[in-house]
Amino acid sequence: MIDASASERIEAVRAAIAGAAKIAGRQPAAVTLVAVSKTQPVEAIVPLIAAGQRDFGENRVQEARDKWPALKAAHPGLRLHLVGQLQSNKAEEAVRLFDAIHSLDRESLVAALGRAMAKTGRRPDCFVQVNIGEEPQKGGCAIAELPALLDRCREAEIPVAGLMCIPPAEVEAAPYFALLAKLARRHDVTGLSMGMSADYESAVMLGATHVRVGTALFGIRR
Ligand SMILES: *Cc1c(COP(=O)(O)O)cnc(C)c1O
Repeated sequence: MIDASASERIEAVRAAIAGAAKIAGRQPAAVTLVAVSKTQPVEAIVPLIAAGQRDFGENRVQEARDKWPALKAAHPGLRLHLVGQLQSNKAEEAVRLFDAIHSLDRESLVAALGRAMAKTGRRPDCFVQVNIGEEPQKGGCAIAELPALLDRCREAEIPVAGLMCIPPAEVEAAPYFALLAKLARRHDVTGLSMGMSADYESAVMLGATHVRVGTALFGIRR
């Protein structure tokens, strides 16, 4: 049975994505909604699966390992995205668990992921995370380091699906989304993982191919 509030929330988010895509002259189907289920229990996730949601995001390998193997076995066709920082020593487990990794941000991780992909035969889509606001405390490679990091990815045959960013909090995100889109064009990568609950419509208007939405789908995190 479909939980009414979960299905209402997901319909509202889908409608907002479609509206933003229309304004930008884009197809809504070109935008993948990643439901970020970090800290949410399985009981909160199942209603979204029942409402047709297929892409989910977690920010910790350990939490994903606890929640997702059983859900994936019960619901074939789900795709799991890692949206949080990844330690190199967890690269192999991440490659086994996740279908996409949105936080590739340094050369040591390129090497670790390359080894993990060779060993497991799995090749999750990777997004190179850019520290778009040049904030010292944030993950992501510096804008100036992006060309070299993309070169390393190509050498290691990492499947680069696009770029990802988390703009600075409390300020208008659109200029940062526009900058990420420009960097993607300059480096010939197609995917753009950008936009969260507060700003995903703006991200879609500026070309997001993947929006990562938690609170707007699940309510406030416990
Ligand atoms: C938690 C998280 C999100 C979702 O944030 P909301 O504001 O709840 O939509 C998106 N991206 C990343 C990297 C996150 O850690």
